[in-house]
Amino acid sequence: MSLKRVRKVLDAHLTKRALVLRGALGADRNHFCPACENRIVGFYRFGNTSDWGCPRCGSSPRERLVNHLISTQVLRVPENGSVLHMAPSELSLVRRFSVAREYVPADLEPANYTAARAHRVDLMTLDDVGRFDLVYASHVLEHVPDDHVVLENLHRAMTPGGEAWFLVPLWRKPTEDGTPDMTAREREQRFGQWDHVRQYGPDIVDRLAAVGFEVEDIAASSLNPADRSREGLGDRLFRARKPGS
Ligand SMILES: [Zn+2]
Repeated sequence: MSLKRVRKVLDAHLTKRALVLRGALGADRNHFCPACENRIVGFYRFGNTSDWGCPRCGSSPRERLVNHLISTQVLRVPENGSVLHMAPSELSLVRRFSVAREYVPADLEPANYTAARAHRVDLMTLDDVGRFDLVYASHVLEHVPDDHVVLENLHRAMTPGGEAWFLVPLWRKPTEDGTPDMTAREREQRFGQWDHVRQYGPDIVDRLAAVGFEVEDIAASSLNPADRSREGLGDRLFRARKPGS
């Protein structure tokens, strides 16, 4: 762990303890976490983001955004359908997706996701056809060697009318792809994490559209400001729909 990361984690721990203490002393619980559905005093800081973590469940702004969009029925979990949940680390979403007829938590390295009982799935070689009504992949696409191949595989694996919900780290510049010869250190410097092989920009919507998806960009900044601050919502979700019935 880098020194910068150690500082971030320590700082998060301290601000989290302060929030728990304030709650115990009777401070107004005027915030709400849509991931664990608890009323809370506020969210703890992580790095440069002041309203980052839920002191009760540890949810991030993006995990809360997805939960908020499901609670308000902007997004719908297909209860009679099949859900592929990649990198299933957000346990609030494991709970929400588990209601589906078929729930497939999965990752290239399932041992990292024992709580969700993940299966091994390599998106580069996924060969399902017309199986999934919902695909959820948060912070996955920036790790895969060839995102065009992965998006084609996912599109084929989905049912007509099915949806994929993608979240990725974003910057304001156009997307930059790494090269196979980059070292882990170079990737960390250029893309912010040693195992990120690209950094997406707003043109991710073009990559999703290129394989046939209809894309909707749902940003936390477009939501009601009162909800946004009460629930500590952040980030943006790309809803990619496979045309069809
Ligand atoms: Zn929570």
